[in-house]
Amino acid sequence: MYHQTPKFKTLLVSFIAFICFEAIATSVIWKMYHEKSALIYERKINVLHDVFISTRQTYAKVSKLLYDQIINTPEVIALFKYASSKDPSIQEKVREKLYAKLLPAYESLQSINLKQLHFHLPDLHSFLRFHKVEKYGDSLEGIRYSIMLANRDKVYVEGFEEGRIYNGFRYVYPLFDEEKNYLGTVETSLSFDALRSDIEHTLQTEVDFVINRDIVERKVWKKEQSNYTVSEISDRYLHEKSMRDKRSKFYEINLAIRDEASKRMLQNKSFALCKNGYIIVFLPVSNIAGEEGAAYIINYLESKVICTLREEAYIIWIISSLGVLSIVTLLYLLLQKMRRINEMANHDILTGLYNRNRLTEVIYYETERANRTGRGYALFYLDIDNFKRINDSYGHETGDNVLKKLAAVLEKNTRKMDIVGRWGGEEFLILLPETTEENAEKLAEKLRREIEATDFGIPEVVTCSFGVTNYLHPEKIDLVIARADRNLYRAKLEGKNRVIGDFDKR
Ligand code: GH3
Ligand code: MG
Ligand code: MG
Repeated sequence: MYHQTPKFKTLLVSFIAFICFEAIATSVIWKMYHEKSALIYERKINVLHDVFISTRQTYAKVSKLLYDQIINTPEVIALFKYASSKDPSIQEKVREKLYAKLLPAYESLQSINLKQLHFHLPDLHSFLRFHKVEKYGDSLEGIRYSIMLANRDKVYVEGFEEGRIYNGFRYVYPLFDEEKNYLGTVETSLSFDALRSDIEHTLQTEVDFVINRDIVERKVWKKEQSNYTVSEISDRYLHEKSMRDKRSKFYEINLAIRDEASKRMLQNKSFALCKNGYIIVFLPVSNIAGEEGAAYIINYLESKVICTLREEAYIIWIISSLGVLSIVTLLYLLLQKMRRINEMANHDILTGLYNRNRLTEVIYYETERANRTGRGYALFYLDIDNFKRINDSYGHETGDNVLKKLAAVLEKNTRKMDIVGRWGGEEFLILLPETTEENAEKLAEKLRREIEATDFGIPEVVTCSFGVTNYLHPEKIDLVIARADRNLYRAKLEGKNRVIGDFDKR
């Protein structure tokens, strides 16, 4: 029905406006939030990265000092020269003497976290491990890329690498005798754990590290693999068991960030997350062989800043949503008001049909159109018979109800394109675009019967008289209306409850 469509439209327009404004506000606020938090994350990542690099460099300098002052000395070189001897007993003697000579240095190295001192031969066999004296003679080929590299190119090699027992940062030096003959390599290494505690000390925050599971399973001696346990952050990474107890404080956080962290760790890039009042920074570490994400340093920073940012964004979002909601509500009320004004200007309050104003406009418009195009229309008046009597007998209110019910009958029995309106009092007008007079008379007759058969809730039959006519090209509006009026008048005169058209005149 005509007067219901705009109400729905108003609601739809307001709803769409709300969704659009809300979507824009939400995306702007979240973009701002993400940009701000990304900046904070970036700063934290940079700090961790810088501390990590400078700590490594400090140890590199210490190991260089060790190499220059203690290892690359004539006495040690004179001994190590015989390490590649074919005679096992000579080898054994060299090992014992080397061990005795360098043990004090090794012990003081340990106190500054350099836990390993390891000599290797040019054939890549282990010659002497200070941290596991009884283990030697095993080949490191395919296991220790750093040693292969230093051995092949006879150069200093530095970086993170997993070994048979330990993982850590390796500093590998080639050794030469006085005639520049290559003798093998020597290595010191810094465990990841040591590096971790140094970084913790510098940053005054807690640091953890995890190491790639594939690499451990490939390189670490089976017996030593029990030193590792699968990380709760990602199945692809392992923790060192010794550190696990200390880190259990973060177990809950690790579980909570697991899904996102494990996904992002696949990219081997640094990132940061926020959970339970902590910013957790992930820094990937490549190994000497160039495998990215061989390990990750994880830094837990207690920080409320992201949570505050999030709360702030949330509050801004609520306020802006309320703002959007009130603007849209105002818009809705305005549209509603305009709709009501429009409706009141064009509709009859009692029946909801077009009022006389609107009918006049429509007839005018249809006549103009008919004059222009030659496509005519028909129209008819209908007037309730003896309505005054109905009013007098059953009261004005009942009379009103009859009018309302009649309006409903008219609407129900006409096409959508037909214009139905209340001309005034108990008189109605129906305009039928592009319809002949004959068909208009047929419709009028159908309506007449329908009205006669309708129960209007009073103990008498309600009937109407009809005056039908059609537009004759070209003519003025007044003539059409006058003709219809005359026909209605005749219908009344001839006994009411009947349809009189132009044909009946002739
Ligand atoms: P006729 O058959 O010749 O048309 O006689 P009638 O009584 O229908 O016509 P008349 O013009 O004598 O009376 C029309 C009555 O309609 C008078 C008026 O009180 C009543 N009327 C007009 N508008 C309304 C209305 O909005 N509500 C009610 N209840 N009655 C109305
Ligand atoms: Mg009447
Ligand atoms: Mg009348």
